Amino acid sequence: MNVLVVVVDALRTDRVGAYDGRRVTPTIDELAAEGTVFERAYSTTNATDPALTSLQTGRLPRTHGVRNHGSHVTDEEKRAIEGVPALPMVLEERGYDTAAFGRPLGRWHRRGFDRYPELSSAHWRLKSLEKSASSLLYGIHPAIGDTLSRTYNALTDRTGSDDEDGVVAEFTDFLDESNQFYSLVHLMDTHTPYDVDDALVERYLEEHDDENRPLSAVAEEFPTGSITANSLTPGGVVNQDNERWEDHEMGVGTALARAQYDAAATEADRTIEGLLEALETRELLEETLVVVLADHGESLGEHGIYFEHHGLYEPTTRIPLVVRPPESDGVERSAELVSITDIAPTILDALELADERALDADGQSLRPLLEGEGDDWESRESLLLEEANTQRFRAVRTDRWKYLRAVEDDPTCRYCERSHGESEQLYDLESDPEETENLVAERPETLAALRDELDDLLSRHEPRSGPSNDADDDAVEYDDEEEVLDRLESLGYR
Ligand SMILES: [Zn+2]
Repeated sequence: MNVLVVVVDALRTDRVGAYDGRRVTPTIDELAAEGTVFERAYSTTNATDPALTSLQTGRLPRTHGVRNHGSHVTDEEKRAIEGVPALPMVLEERGYDTAAFGRPLGRWHRRGFDRYPELSSAHWRLKSLEKSASSLLYGIHPAIGDTLSRTYNALTDRTGSDDEDGVVAEFTDFLDESNQFYSLVHLMDTHTPYDVDDALVERYLEEHDDENRPLSAVAEEFPTGSITANSLTPGGVVNQDNERWEDHEMGVGTALARAQYDAAATEADRTIEGLLEALETRELLEETLVVVLADHGESLGEHGIYFEHHGLYEPTTRIPLVVRPPESDGVERSAELVSITDIAPTILDALELADERALDADGQSLRPLLEGEGDDWESRESLLLEEANTQRFRAVRTDRWKYLRAVEDDPTCRYCERSHGESEQLYDLESDPEETENLVAERPETLAALRDELDDLLSRHEPRSGPSNDADDDAVEYDDEEEVLDRLESLGYR
């Protein structure tokens, strides 16, 4: 059996039709109809580096060691992850052909892959430079910053090894050369800045006329110079080619950004269609376990978080998860609390390699649910969520409740330089799925129980190797680190 895992960066559940959302992802919906939809799946955190590491190791950020993202990842975290096995390493050792396609994150994410996408550093360095320069110039005069963005985009090739056709072509070549395989495809469509087909945007824009505010007005709600205020300038969120949209009756506003997000979901879906077609024409689909998920979600304005994935609220931490085993006789939908840490154990189990306990994962195999043996599945009481970089919040998700707690009693968001809520927040997700009514004062007993549950989860998942103070420890250095960080910065990471 083969395995294909597709990560759609920052894809929300409500954009996947299989979650009763809007019908912009026909391929994922079809896949869902043939497999299992996990209605309550969660990431472990809000950012790509630690979340993708959870996917590949089956562990929480606390136990795999990478708790931050991008340039915030410390030497100590790099040393920790080097000692933790990852799924592609295990499978490569067992003779699987392992290949990654799409967005290259490099560094420790490369471990175990025979093939890994190239970084084209010159392009990304320029892109990063252009972004800083145009946001600086935008502060002086919007038209100057905008002109620079446009000129840059006209002069450079905006596609790289992560463009959609490239991914499908590379995957197809790989299929023709490989035997048993494990393949990870990371798609960036639904991550800002949205670079999407205007005709699709036009079509989806009609559905977003209920609430539309100019992005410049939203930016003014945040302190000047804050990461959020900067990211809401042209080029940060919406398609950089703003000219046509400025003249559009809807203008450059939240409706446009949401419509571009929808269009981006459709574009990711089309790439997935290409990948599945490549499998099908080679009669490999019935020999391949296919998993489609997100590394984290995206907030499109909820809780004052605009086109970003920070905080631990549902839009950011809940993820779509669709699993299609080669022969599916399991449940069509599962409401069990499941985690991105369950994927690696599920794959090892499906490949009959589980008894090796090769990963020592925090997650558990979903195979009983996929095969209709629900009695063999041990239901979770709760899931632990931890915010990356800021480490401002930790949270517990139970069957009914969500409890959030600021780590140092300081709820100020590092991105927004304002807070999204109190230091402690308690939400009844059954009656208040949008987490709008903080019940800390009204439900003292539930609050006490969830405080205990959070403490208990933290102590049950202590970091496995403590912080090292040994000055002689070699710093871990990755050859591609600078290139990766340039690339992340060009996507708006700070
Ligand atoms: Zn924020």
